[in-house]
Amino acid sequence: MKFWLRNTYHSDHALEVIFSSLRWFFLVMSVVVFYVQYIEKPDQFKLVLFLSLVAFGILYMGVSEYYLRKSPEGSKMYTLMTKCGPLFDFISFSALIPLTGGIESPLFPVAYLIILHITVYWRFLGGVISAFLFVLTYSLIFFMQVPDAAADTYVMYASRVIFLLMIGGLGGIIVSRERKHHTEKNVLAEAANRDYLTNLLNHRSFQECLRKDLERGTEFYLVLTDIDKFKAVNDKYGHVMGDEVLREIGAILSDMVPAKQGRVFRYGGEEFALILHTDNQEEVDKLLIQIKQAVADHVFYSNGEAFSVTMSFGSCRQNGEAPDQLVKKADKLLYAAKNMGRNRIVYAPAG
Ligand code: GH3
Ligand code: MG
Ligand code: MG
Repeated sequence: MKFWLRNTYHSDHALEVIFSSLRWFFLVMSVVVFYVQYIEKPDQFKLVLFLSLVAFGILYMGVSEYYLRKSPEGSKMYTLMTKCGPLFDFISFSALIPLTGGIESPLFPVAYLIILHITVYWRFLGGVISAFLFVLTYSLIFFMQVPDAAADTYVMYASRVIFLLMIGGLGGIIVSRERKHHTEKNVLAEAANRDYLTNLLNHRSFQECLRKDLERGTEFYLVLTDIDKFKAVNDKYGHVMGDEVLREIGAILSDMVPAKQGRVFRYGGEEFALILHTDNQEEVDKLLIQIKQAVADHVFYSNGEAFSVTMSFGSCRQNGEAPDQLVKKADKLLYAAKNMGRNRIVYAPAG
């Protein structure tokens, strides 16, 4: 339950699944309400209209449910179906209310939910416009049904109109505010975890991932890698060019390490760290050789002058040690690679 609730706080998809399930619930509720009223006062015309509406509803809901579950979030059909949802709700509502008791229909409060759903996509403006549309529909139904209503019926009508407008306006403000906070929080969280220069995950993310992977007992290899003689690059081509080299090497690393295989971090300065989720040394060797080659083959240009850099690597498998011990181990191997002449990979001895 707690997990489910947290999901709906954070994911639009979970919210859509809830709205989609609610539609089935309201469909059943409408059938019950209509049936009870039909038994009391049968009306062939209303029955045909109602059954057509139910058939249309089942068709639309079936299709949208299919795309909601099968197509990836953000795909064209997914977006179309989720955005069409409130429109479908509005049309169904407008047809359903006259068929289930008109202004006294027990289904009327569904309008509040539909308005709130609309504010999720179209914020304050969507809330206000949809509230006005509901007021218009409701007024039409009201004046067609009771042209000479008693004073208390007008009071009920007025209070419902006021509630619709309040839900549209206030709901729009509240949802917009919460969405803004949520987006800002995500942006801040992302900024806190990313390195500004390379846009790779930063040192803080590295320490967190390392700790979590070790706590979970996940099998992985830790690789520390450092650009060779980088000080000379800065000295010769300047720090701006040095920064560009760091950015381009960051991009090579993140392109060559697929997300499902591992993660790339800027450890600090001109050092990077890789956490590779595998227990297969051969796989790691193959990947590191490819990365080492790709870096060495990459050509940088500074004022028309071409140059390239190499990198040294230290790689070891996690063996249940503490995070700082594991980093020390990989760092020693990297140091060994530097001492052996750079542009090479040094592995921890097997076992
Ligand atoms: P080695 O092969 O032993 O690693 O030699 P090195 O020159 O790469 O190592 P050293 O530690 O002597 O120099 C690292 C240089 O990296 C010094 C520092 O100015 C540079 N550096 C660190 N961070 C940045 C950065 O963000 N931008 C730029 N342009 N340079 C950086
Ligand atoms: Mg270096
Ligand atoms: Mg260094």
